[in-house]
Amino acid sequence: MPNFDCHISVAALTSAVGVAAGAILFDWDKTASSLAFLAGLSGGLIPDLDCDQSKPRRMAGVFAGLGCAAMAVGFVSGHGQFLKRPWPPAEVALAAAGSFFLCNTIFMEILKKRTRHRGLFHSFAVPFLYGGLWSCLTAGQGGRTIMAVWFLSVLGVLTHLVLDAAKSFSFDPLKLATSDLAASTRLWILTALVNFLAFTRLFAF
Ligand SMILES: [Zn+2]
Repeated sequence: MPNFDCHISVAALTSAVGVAAGAILFDWDKTASSLAFLAGLSGGLIPDLDCDQSKPRRMAGVFAGLGCAAMAVGFVSGHGQFLKRPWPPAEVALAAAGSFFLCNTIFMEILKKRTRHRGLFHSFAVPFLYGGLWSCLTAGQGGRTIMAVWFLSVLGVLTHLVLDAAKSFSFDPLKLATSDLAASTRLWILTALVNFLAFTRLFAF
């Protein structure tokens, strides 16, 4: 099976070519290009979040933890009504470490319990779900960026699915990666909704 290095190299190369093409053909600016590159690069790693002990999962766990820690620090070091804020530095540091470990553990446990390697995360819906999520997140940046991140996310995740499919001698990247029809249906409905939301934002510009 293609390993982490293989997935990240192919995703990086494809994203670089994609961003260059976007800059020439659609005049993507610096913000659109860099966000799109990030979306494409990370997209190439996303499906392996379903793999226990995989590098992408550990990295995502660290990001989830850091995100929570940053929010906790912002909350307890600011002035406000609850919990007698702002806290002294030592307690802020403790709150940061505590939220990091709590969120990291919850995130990793959920993925461990709820996913199976090459299950739903390797479904053909995931490129579009990931693209839709990126587009919604960057909606404030304008139509060109929404389009850029959507294209590159889809492309990035597709590089992963195609590489996996090629190596396992199943040249059908379109197959649903799970026999659980109810879960697949929910995933596709979610994907459709997120993309609908992303594209309504796109046409608002
Ligand atoms: Zn994979």
